[in-house]
Amino acid sequence: MTANKHTDGSEAHRCPVCGTSGAGVFFEALQVPVHCNVLWPTQAEALAAPRGDIRLAFCEACGHIFNVAFDPSLMTYTQQYENSLHFSPRFQQFAESLAARLVERYNLHGKDIIEIGCGKGDFLRLLCELGGNRGVGFDPSYDPALMDGDLPDGLTFVQDFYSPHYADYKADLICCRHVLEHIEQPTAFIANVRRAVGMQDAALYFEVPNVLYTLRDRGIWDVIYEHPSYYSAASLGALFTASGFDVHSLEETYQGQFLSVEATPAAAAVGRQHAATSDRQAMRRLVSSFAESYRTKVSAWQRTLANITTAGQRAVIWGAGSKGVTFLNTLRAQDSIGFVVDINPRKQGQYVAGTGQEIVPPEFLQEYRPDVVIVMNPIYMQEIQQMTADLGLMPTLIHV
Ligand SMILES: [Zn+2]
Repeated sequence: MTANKHTDGSEAHRCPVCGTSGAGVFFEALQVPVHCNVLWPTQAEALAAPRGDIRLAFCEACGHIFNVAFDPSLMTYTQQYENSLHFSPRFQQFAESLAARLVERYNLHGKDIIEIGCGKGDFLRLLCELGGNRGVGFDPSYDPALMDGDLPDGLTFVQDFYSPHYADYKADLICCRHVLEHIEQPTAFIANVRRAVGMQDAALYFEVPNVLYTLRDRGIWDVIYEHPSYYSAASLGALFTASGFDVHSLEETYQGQFLSVEATPAAAAVGRQHAATSDRQAMRRLVSSFAESYRTKVSAWQRTLANITTAGQRAVIWGAGSKGVTFLNTLRAQDSIGFVVDINPRKQGQYVAGTGQEIVPPEFLQEYRPDVVIVMNPIYMQEIQQMTADLGLMPTLIHV
């Protein structure tokens, strides 16, 4: 990221979405693990995981937030990377209803669908099955060895980034979920998508974490090194219109935690914005109080963990995703938390970056008998309550 010194010595940074200079840093978290979703096979390797700095800046011009200390050379996405959420019934339900909504809204029957950053291809498979569609998934980390069973007819995967090189791939819908926040140069990325789409009659559906949720609902465990960019409705809309898309919808989903944009190729170089965006004034206020509310929340959790330890209780974390890894590292909770539960079998037996706890299956709790289970996302409280009850356990459940 480029930076210029102000006369008072503070740095002003250029926004990766709108190009405006002058974004100021409002929050720092130094030496955090670079990857929350890379698994480590031994505790020693987990403790020695690479670290990087987070220094968040706010662009007042377009409402975008970005990490000015992001160093792309630290990031390597390999097949080790595991962020599939489809093991959670709650998330699976969300994906299914989203797929059904997209199939209906865009009349996707016997059509062509492209997914950018398709991961293991779970969502693309859903879209194809629901409407009898053909699907092409692009992902440099796609690993055929991890597919369950044979590929259904009409579904193919390309182990590469989607680019104008693939402009001859027809698309009625292009979807891309939880990818943009990982991209350091989003304007170049979306401009590339625009060139690849050409003047096809295609609809776009992109989904990212909602920075307003992080700011407003103090979702502080969502600030992670893997995300150089944090989108508001305003900056997400600005990104697409500037790259030649007409923006038709900007919506908060997943109880406000996600933000989605729906767009189509514009006839002009710059597209039109047909959707309302977030209140920039309110966002400015939230940004200015974020560092303080972050500190307040961290101290409250430090007290909670100290109380658990003093009372001689056993506590585990439920959820070895980015929230859990960030929680453990921020609170340096090596002493108070022994294990992390995760229902994803691909994570079990591995170790948490930075703090080194082992990731265990829910059944492990029958033997370990924790007094407290700390749930990393309130949205999963009900399903975790059910799972612990099914194991014959009645720990105290608290969520972050
Ligand atoms: Zn900007």
